[in-house]
Amino acid sequence: MTATAPREEQLWSRCAGCASLLYRKRLRRNLDVCPECGEHARLSAPERLRQLVDPGSLGLMPDQLPETDPIDFVDVLPYPHRLSAARASTGLSEAVVCATATIGGHPAVLAVMDFRFLGGSLGCAVGELITRAAERALDDRVPLILITASGGARMQEGALSLMQMATVSQAIAALREAGLLTVSVLTDPTYGGVAASFATNTDLVLAESGARMGFAGPRVIRQVTGRALPEGFQSADVLLRHGQVDMVVQRRSLRGRLAALLAATRAARPTRPPVPRQEPAPRRERLADAALAATPGGGDTPAVRDAWDTVRLARHPGRPTTLDYLDSVFDGFLELHGDRLGGDCPAVVGGVARLADRHVMVIGHQKGHTTAELVARNFGMASPAGHRKALRLMRLAARLGLPVITLVDTPGADPGVSAEEQGQAAAIAENILTLTVLPTPVLAVITGEGGSGGALALAVADRVLMLENAVYSVISPEGCAAILWPDRSAAPQAARALRLTAPDLCRLGVVDEVVPEPSTAAHDDPAETAHRLRAALLNNLLPLLDVPPAMLVRLRRQRFRRFGMARAGARAGAR
Ligand SMILES: [Zn+2]
Repeated sequence: MTATAPREEQLWSRCAGCASLLYRKRLRRNLDVCPECGEHARLSAPERLRQLVDPGSLGLMPDQLPETDPIDFVDVLPYPHRLSAARASTGLSEAVVCATATIGGHPAVLAVMDFRFLGGSLGCAVGELITRAAERALDDRVPLILITASGGARMQEGALSLMQMATVSQAIAALREAGLLTVSVLTDPTYGGVAASFATNTDLVLAESGARMGFAGPRVIRQVTGRALPEGFQSADVLLRHGQVDMVVQRRSLRGRLAALLAATRAARPTRPPVPRQEPAPRRERLADAALAATPGGGDTPAVRDAWDTVRLARHPGRPTTLDYLDSVFDGFLELHGDRLGGDCPAVVGGVARLADRHVMVIGHQKGHTTAELVARNFGMASPAGHRKALRLMRLAARLGLPVITLVDTPGADPGVSAEEQGQAAAIAENILTLTVLPTPVLAVITGEGGSGGALALAVADRVLMLENAVYSVISPEGCAAILWPDRSAAPQAARALRLTAPDLCRLGVVDEVVPEPSTAAHDDPAETAHRLRAALLNNLLPLLDVPPAMLVRLRRQRFRRFGMARAGARAGAR
């Protein structure tokens, strides 16, 4: 390489769309949009803020948080090394930059993600910073604008990264309740846990021209379906046609469009401060604390088993399914069908049932024991219709005053073309948000596989229980191995690194109680498993029934709010 090469590279850049060689200064003047073909190049967070906000109005929010490595994750490189490299190459401390500013004279709080920083992945620090931005918007009574760019949840932080989808969603829910506008602007690319939470559960969803958004990535869907993807799959224009976004906006129009939306909604904005929260009676508080406090997980001490062996047990075809438990743990199950929008998903079953003569709403993923059953149930992978059926039943339960019990057993969301076209990300996002504010007791049990956002869509709860040989993870061990090692045969190592077993997740505070399984595992003695599950459900549900709904919601929010700062706490607790 000659000495002039680096300078030449800085002066010129090649368009990723049409391969034209462009003068960098000219490209920058054109907001990094190719003047030849209109390709929108990715922007850093600082450059995005420079383009969007009124000059002189920017106030950066603090971004320093305690060090991050909640599960001591190591793949081929220790996680802290990857973090240091990302910091050095971007000059940022994390994958999001949050700020207060005005746009066209209208005040707002902005959170702008930066894809250069570990693929814009959502970890505890990113979740905490965006939550603080939302809380700042609530305090200031101004709209929140989220500019998303992300590959998904940060797998190096395991299930704690998954929890961030709930943490940020409940902050969005608080803005919704306060009548404050939330806007997300999808930029390229927006995938996974970000797509299935705050990118799509905002009031308005704008997509920058050329942006792609989806829950499952195109590579995964191609691998699973073995078919070529439709033209423009997951692109902004196709998302618009399928009703997934409000508008597609060229970069040069984005600032003006945001200013117009802020102006249009400003008149409706409430000016009165919110009604102060009533202080609860002390007795109620104690009752609630007792209901939410971790209780010991049964008499047996779970044997230490290799994480990969646990994964195989969790996937065992003989393992009891949701319908098995509805038969053995509950009485009088009446199944309710349909999302009322055009579908009934066989991978999600739900309805009213009795648990020791108390009426409850039970919703769970359904797999099967034979290949034919598994195929008919789509292997327990819910479609958007399944998530919307679950949403309908949750809301119905709250209206009827029924507690909700969810049984989680899914490899993950449906990695298919139609699931994406029907708005899988938004369907998951809406369920997560709704559960954070559902005014009735919610008890979740991870019974088999708790696979990423598809599992979380049923697992934002007052109490989260987990069968001893169940697993709960931000990504499958195979998927994690393929990305980070990169070889699927490293799945056993990935399973260990992800901390996806019940005892690990109990230590991290993601799970409240481990339900011990008999002898080898649940499939060896389904009757005894059902007996233990029933006892654990009653033990956890009954105290929740005495807690007033408003307090349940407040305590549920506290439960998920602490995951933003879980890092330091979890490590301290593990020592
Ligand atoms: Zn071009």
